[in-house]
Amino acid sequence: MDELLTDGRNASSRFSPRASLALSPTLSSPIHIKGARTHNLKDVELTIPRHQLTVITGVSGSGKSSLAFDTLHAEGSRQYLESLSAKARGLLESVSRPDVDFIRGLSPVVAIAQRTGGNTNPRSTVATLTEIADHARPLWILAGERTCLKDGHPVRRRSLDDNLKSLEAIAAGTRLMVIAPVAKDKPSVLLEAAADLGRRGFTRLRVEGKVVTLEEAEGVLKGRETLTLEVVVDRIVAGPDQRSRLADSLELAFREGRHRALVLAETAGGLWQEHPLSLNLACEHCGETYEALNPRALSHNHPSGACPDCGGLGRQLRFQEGLAILDESLSINDGVVKPWKCGTRKVLIRRNAITRALSEQIPFDLKKPWKDLPATTRSILLHGDPKRTYLLPPVKGRKPVDTFWNGMFAELEQAFRTTTGESLRQRLLHFQAGSTCSVCQGKRLAPAALSLRLASLNMADFLALTIPEALAFTKTLATHPAVMPAEEARRGLEQRLRFLNEAGLTYLTLDREVGSLSGGEAQRVRLATQLGLGLVGVTYVLDEPSIGLHPSDHGRLIGSLKSLRDLGNTLVVVEHDRDMMLAADHLVEMGPGAGVQGGQVIFTGTPDACRQHATSRTGAYLSGRATLAGLIKKKPVSKTHLVVKGATENNLQDITARFPIGNLTAVCGVSGSGKSTLAIDILSAVAARKINGAKLVAGRHAGIEGLEKIVAFTAVDQEPIGRSPRSNPATFTGIMDLLRDLWSALPLAKVRGYGPGRFSFNVRGGRCETCAGEGSVALDMQFLGETFVDCPSCAGRRFNRETLEVRFKGLSIAEALHLTVTEAVEIFKAQPRLAEKLRTLEEVGLGYLKLGQAANTLSGGEAQRLKLASELSRRDHSGRLYVLDEPTTGLHWDDIAKLLKLLERLRDAGATLIVIEHHADVILAADWVLELGPVGGAKGGQLVYEGEPAGLLRCKASPTGQAIQPV
Ligand SMILES: [Zn+2]
Ligand SMILES: [Zn+2]
Ligand SMILES: [Zn+2]
Repeated sequence: MDELLTDGRNASSRFSPRASLALSPTLSSPIHIKGARTHNLKDVELTIPRHQLTVITGVSGSGKSSLAFDTLHAEGSRQYLESLSAKARGLLESVSRPDVDFIRGLSPVVAIAQRTGGNTNPRSTVATLTEIADHARPLWILAGERTCLKDGHPVRRRSLDDNLKSLEAIAAGTRLMVIAPVAKDKPSVLLEAAADLGRRGFTRLRVEGKVVTLEEAEGVLKGRETLTLEVVVDRIVAGPDQRSRLADSLELAFREGRHRALVLAETAGGLWQEHPLSLNLACEHCGETYEALNPRALSHNHPSGACPDCGGLGRQLRFQEGLAILDESLSINDGVVKPWKCGTRKVLIRRNAITRALSEQIPFDLKKPWKDLPATTRSILLHGDPKRTYLLPPVKGRKPVDTFWNGMFAELEQAFRTTTGESLRQRLLHFQAGSTCSVCQGKRLAPAALSLRLASLNMADFLALTIPEALAFTKTLATHPAVMPAEEARRGLEQRLRFLNEAGLTYLTLDREVGSLSGGEAQRVRLATQLGLGLVGVTYVLDEPSIGLHPSDHGRLIGSLKSLRDLGNTLVVVEHDRDMMLAADHLVEMGPGAGVQGGQVIFTGTPDACRQHATSRTGAYLSGRATLAGLIKKKPVSKTHLVVKGATENNLQDITARFPIGNLTAVCGVSGSGKSTLAIDILSAVAARKINGAKLVAGRHAGIEGLEKIVAFTAVDQEPIGRSPRSNPATFTGIMDLLRDLWSALPLAKVRGYGPGRFSFNVRGGRCETCAGEGSVALDMQFLGETFVDCPSCAGRRFNRETLEVRFKGLSIAEALHLTVTEAVEIFKAQPRLAEKLRTLEEVGLGYLKLGQAANTLSGGEAQRLKLASELSRRDHSGRLYVLDEPTTGLHWDDIAKLLKLLERLRDAGATLIVIEHHADVILAADWVLELGPVGGAKGGQLVYEGEPAGLLRCKASPTGQAIQPV
């Protein structure tokens, strides 16, 4: 799918309501799809009612996405492009149009997908994506109040009268000088300026603060140093009768000084006190002047608004103790601080001299293990000592110099900044991680922007609010006198915040980076953005918007979708969630199986009709005729535990959580309650580091007990198995290696001398060189971004002709990669190792996947099950720990049944399983449940429940228990 169309902002700019009117047929006629054959679709004919909420469901691989995205959305985009221009039509020749006879009645289609895809730019935040930042900035510019960067006093724009008023306190009879700044420049330049002032009748100047006559100026304005030149406009004795003369002089001074002037008042001691004056924005106290701000100056994405130190990222790379020191039993001499040993020979000699000098002066023992050194010594070594100086070897020369020691990390940062060697940079990069910018404290904005406050909040404070807080604040602005003239802008801001709130994103802050959102969250942010745009007559296609959302938030999400529908739009949602299906106007079930066994519409109608339907699997679950309860056996809860103690990372409230070893534990809780922080950021990170030696910094916690009982750790996440078309299920599971061995052992291959490498599309030899084995070539499509089309030389087969002539059971290697897993099981049943790997894939419900299907087309759930499958092929699972992040994502009940059986097998073979999950059936099937909450964000992070699932349902304080009561 093209990323451009999935991004709310881009979509908005191209799908104007006018375009939709041009394309929309009679308002009530349904969308009529006929002869859809994309992927596994079997000549599908279907009508989708307009202005209604339609849910498409079905088991994985049944053709839901092929119908919603690859047919409906693809054809909608094509029809839209076709309406644009002849030039676009020319481009379309090369865009493969979906394999469908026709789709009638289709309005412009906007896909709101989950993939954060091209939007991992760290500058993109919830506020920028939703345009909330754009709507907020003008309010601050219009109604905000600035303070002086020097002393914090108010900054105001001042009139001549304001300036005169500020001089009223000067006692009558005081001698005054009214002065205007002229220039700061080289004496030669200033001499010319002085001559010009003389011609215009001025007689006195001030050079570097000293008053001189015009004649004396020549003697002072010499040399090479830059000097400051001012002109004395008038000399007055203060008094009521002199007020109008002072006003005239001041006006002249402001003209000469471009809105700036200075009044000197003589004090009793004969000194001159300076009163800086300005018509610009100026500090009421010290007179410091400021440039006016415009909305861009409040944006971290604009040079004038960005923090000058971090460029608006809010973070800088910093050396981290947790990355630099992996083995605390080493001493300084053993090289405990790893990056300290990275550099040229010359640098290392100096560094050794430094540590030797420090060891004598702090003092400490260079041979003592790091963990046995006093904490203060370790801190001085890494971070420096501001309290005293040391005699240290200099950068140049021999003699030690008396100097402050800034610490190894400061030295390393200097080396990192100044090195020209790319390999050294890369090595040093390993020991660094992003940490908060020390200048803006992560606020991203320049000091001037931060000094502008509206009702006591600056822009960064506002963006740091959670969505409900920001909404409440924006409401209070309605009565703020300075905001009233901009009521329309304020209301626009309030509305957008309300949509985000209703989409169930209550715990997100506005400054949260889009790249750090889960797929489901990113999709809900885009959904709210679309609501804010208020488009009418659009067909929206969504992919599982309930993902990652706690059951108690489903109601809000459904509410947002219905609002979008009620604006006059058509919604098509691929979804597995029970609440969503029951709330739909119309249900479509694809099936009956996956891949070649799927691709048919097996039910279409209302949710009620579905419940009564004889053959619908969805109807069976909706009505309760089918259930997952009791599908897997419970295992008695083990007496030994993994115990995470004193967890305080993010919002965790110093909790201690127990995970029984050898059991299946479900970790649940509302979104933002701290589930991932506990299970991923702390437990997984420590396990990955201690057991797998991964370079990860774990979240804050006091310690973990029981890890010594774990021999291996695997995080089974939904990260793609690869982003390029080069990785696929065959390469990921090792099946590709077995296929290459098999093909290279065939008689023809032997005759021609083809080794296994000949059958790889990653190296030269057997692959097609036109596409370098990709099978496709990229085509720049302007409107659609980059699109891939089949390679003209090999027609997508990825290998050259000679290679393809080698056949096994009549199949070339390219054709073998085109087999589904289920087909391959049959063909390779005589190859035991191949057959075993293939059967495992079938068991996890991936029988419909093609062996060579590009990894970038697999869903997160499919990638996760591929990883599980490759784990399953191990023999021994005792002492293994698996952490799974929302494994039911994208799964129909029938698929979840397969997944549960798989987890049961792993558990019964001795593995410890920890599953972060919202799905009621998985929570109830677990042996042990931990619930975090009770809410998301700062008030969450507590352990609401710990125990067996039966108790959860009885726990009144548990939002999960209340939300998943059995039907
Ligand atoms: Zn000031
Ligand atoms: Zn900064
Ligand atoms: Zn090719």
